[in-house]
Amino acid sequence: MKSIQEIYPLLSTPRSVVITMHQKPDPDALGSSLALAGVLLQMGHEVTVISPTNWPDFLKWMPGAKRVIDFEASAEKAITALNAAEWLFCLDFNALHRTKNLAPKIAELKCVKILVDHHQQPETGAFDYGISDTSKSSTSEMVYDFIKESGNESLIDEDIAACLYAGIIGDTGSFRFPATSPEVHEMVAALKRKGLQHSIVHEHLYDNFLEDRLRFIGHILLHRMEIFYEYNAALIAIPKSDLLKFNIRTGDTEGLVNYPLTIQGIKLSALVIDRDEERKWSFRSKGDVDVNSFARKYFNGGGHFNASGGRSADSLNDTIKTFETAIKENISQLQ
Ligand code: 5GP
Ligand code: MN
Repeated sequence: MKSIQEIYPLLSTPRSVVITMHQKPDPDALGSSLALAGVLLQMGHEVTVISPTNWPDFLKWMPGAKRVIDFEASAEKAITALNAAEWLFCLDFNALHRTKNLAPKIAELKCVKILVDHHQQPETGAFDYGISDTSKSSTSEMVYDFIKESGNESLIDEDIAACLYAGIIGDTGSFRFPATSPEVHEMVAALKRKGLQHSIVHEHLYDNFLEDRLRFIGHILLHRMEIFYEYNAALIAIPKSDLLKFNIRTGDTEGLVNYPLTIQGIKLSALVIDRDEERKWSFRSKGDVDVNSFARKYFNGGGHFNASGGRSADSLNDTIKTFETAIKENISQLQ
């Protein structure tokens, strides 16, 4: 993978560009993609943004979101754009499988592939150009750097600033995670000078749910959370029946995994959701508990040191047993 800087001189020639991201995009994945799209469009490129799956309602306000193609819903349209692409930007994922059913198509494409990502152990062999920096708070911060370093900061407008800011607050937990560097705050100051209305972005992301979701959170904290004090760990396990009962939609379970970490002493929090095709795991930790390795070792996943995810084909009960074994095996790290 050649360095991202080598692409800057090539940006002045208009091209067919596709931008894609990980499945079930979060504010960082969709925000960084739409911000990059906004800048490339102004530079005269033809740009299509493709998401491997649908995305939560709380991201629908993002400028440009209406033009994003959902690969699962409109595969033909997406494939036409991919076949015509000269450049494919891959944002906010480290491994092709994170694009779910889009992965085989990306693998077979012969166009120039460019990675911008901050997850650990990236598959750099799959890309022609790119940057992978696990010290970065978010891909949105990296896209901001890309725009600035390539000499295009003047193209950042209020809409692009809102997309980048959403990614920043999503991935830094509103400026609380350790990767929130001085550069992140400087970037936000610069975005404010571009007209960013930060409180509106917060409202879009966090004050935009239905009553069902809040009732659901109450229900699962009361009935589905188990604390393993001996291991400083907690688990929330959500059966399919709860998702149906409370009409849970994409995005409604976002952030749930953080709740157990608000309990004194809890260093590892796990959330497992019984989805049709798989049991989807999320892990969050504090301090020196490495949930990237934990997810890799036991749950076929990965991510960051303090935030990761994984999946299992086992039943909910069986995958919970794997978790219980895993915390026992890691007791020295957890205590
Ligand atoms: P979340 O819990 O929000 O779904 O994911 C937390 C972090 O772990 C994200 O940065 C995400 O990219 C990563 N992650 C989530 N699921 C998987 C997975 O199945 N495999 C890998 N390699 N990373 C994952
Ligand atoms: Mn991210």
